Amino acid sequence: MKIGVLALQGDFDAHRRRLEELSAEVVLVKKPEQLNEIDGLVIPGGESGTFLKLLGEEGLAKLKDFVRAKPTFGTCAGCILLATEVENPKQAGLGALDITVRRNAYGRQIDSSIREGRFLDDPIEMVFIRAPKIERVGPGVEVIATEGKDPVLVRKGKTLAATFHPELSDDRRIHQYFPEKASEAHESRSEQRQRARFRYRRTLTSGKSGIHTTLGSSTNAEVRTPRSIQLLHGHA
Ligand code: GLN
Repeated sequence: MKIGVLALQGDFDAHRRRLEELSAEVVLVKKPEQLNEIDGLVIPGGESGTFLKLLGEEGLAKLKDFVRAKPTFGTCAGCILLATEVENPKQAGLGALDITVRRNAYGRQIDSSIREGRFLDDPIEMVFIRAPKIERVGPGVEVIATEGKDPVLVRKGKTLAATFHPELSDDRRIHQYFPEKASEAHESRSEQRQRARFRYRRTLTSGKSGIHTTLGSSTNAEVRTPRSIQLLHGHA
């Protein structure tokens, strides 16, 4: 898996180092066309408003397409960019993960701190720097790590977002988790697609009437109509 780290601004080099320590092939992404070469992307911490300015409309559109299709991990400002809803102030972004995030939510006194949280039920160090807070987690979004009562690492399928900076701790678990989960989520989607293709082909070759009959018995309730089949094939 070739992993890109968005390298427009902020804390990208620490992510690169950590991923390389874990033997990943890393590409520092500075131009939109580099998104075509990678299988997954890390959007680092920094200043989410500055990221948006540097990306521009075209960069943002290209990044939106990427994030919809491929595994992405946003940390801190990256988490803010992935959220569907941003407060303090309101800000548009990639709208990829159904969460509400409040920027700079910890106020001035503790705007940066190192705290202990829990990752998959085990203790883990978390570095927070002018961190956002995840105030709402939408349906289907799993909470993977918490600090106190707050969700601080969440995931839906191939999209992962953390309000802290795992690249600044010595612990490598989170950077190990991302490619593992990302490729699982990715594989299971392509497996689903292949299963649907196989059923579709069987229906066509068996000569029986009715895509609906065969696909009706599918375990995947969405796969019922020729239109869904087109979508699964990526033609629509
Ligand atoms: N406060 C920053 C923002 O609003 C995020 C801080 C960070 O990435 N460490 O974008």
